[in-house]
Amino acid sequence: MIDLRSDTVTQPSQAMREAMARAEVGDDVYGEDPTVNRLQTTAAQLLGKEAALFVPTGVMANQLSIRLHTRPGDEVIVESSSHLIRYEGGSASALSQVQLSCVSGDRGLLSLKPVQAALRPKDVHNPPTTLLCLEQTHNVGGGTVYPLETIKGLTSWARENGLALHLDGARLFNAVVASGISAAEYASHFDTVCFCLSKGLGAPVGSMIVSTQDNIDKLRRLRKMFGGGMRQAGILAAAGLYALEHNISRLKEDHDNAKNLALHLQQIPTVFVDPDRVDTNIVVFEVVRSEHSTAELLQAFKESGVLLNAMGERMFRAVTHLDVDGADIEKAAHVLGSVLTV
Ligand SMILES: *Cc1c(COP(=O)(O)O)cnc(C)c1O
Repeated sequence: MIDLRSDTVTQPSQAMREAMARAEVGDDVYGEDPTVNRLQTTAAQLLGKEAALFVPTGVMANQLSIRLHTRPGDEVIVESSSHLIRYEGGSASALSQVQLSCVSGDRGLLSLKPVQAALRPKDVHNPPTTLLCLEQTHNVGGGTVYPLETIKGLTSWARENGLALHLDGARLFNAVVASGISAAEYASHFDTVCFCLSKGLGAPVGSMIVSTQDNIDKLRRLRKMFGGGMRQAGILAAAGLYALEHNISRLKEDHDNAKNLALHLQQIPTVFVDPDRVDTNIVVFEVVRSEHSTAELLQAFKESGVLLNAMGERMFRAVTHLDVDGADIEKAAHVLGSVLTV
């Protein structure tokens, strides 16, 4: 089976498992796990921030950050197809009692004018707008990379207007590898930045939040409150350290594989895809003519050995990652071609 549903499906490699087995551990709620501490120091340095916190999931990283930056009744500006609005179970309203204001972007990327229009004037009728969240790369947008200039424009305007800034950088390192811009440069424009160890970086579990020491101290207390304080978590942190040391630069292979898949899909007459719009490791394509429903097509792909996710009516997403190689991509393209050409 060639599994292109997500880069979350990656399996820890043998070498990563060995690093996990060797990890020195302690009780991380007491701050005594040396491997977690090393991961946190490494992540903070890599992103040019004072401190970092290891958390179980990307959703928890986002939700702790929202809780940190807001008070109940505040409003948070997000992009309308962002992970925060679509895939986090309504947690911002449930856990932080904030209202999300959705602004549409181009392939998930916000521009300044509509964001400016979403800022509420200070008035007793209005919720105070206190936080702007961006997503890099943008998942539903198709792995799109925010240009640095756009980030600078949005964040400097937001700062002038007193908003805090959070980056959902679940796939930040895909953007780093695709653009050649450092993680620290991207991170310098935000108060809090999170990224996933468990996607293309190949670790089994975990996300990081980076920020100032003061914010990380507060986030540490919030993490305990949200139930995310872990004990001998060095076993997991060792996988994260291994991922940061070995699996960043190889993301380029995933990007090349995604581009190659898109070029193959473009040859199928019933498929619409624009390979020029494949910035990183996500290919979104549409089947423009078919007698079959989205679910039937997914089933037919699966029966021929390829797993994909649906993104809408006959819209599909293929995500490349470290457990699929160039030959798998050729095979997957062939399978999709034969299913869609009958
Ligand atoms: C995967 C993802 C997350 C976090 O998801 P978890 O499954 O909780 O780790 C957050 N934001 C984006 C954009 C993602 O793709």
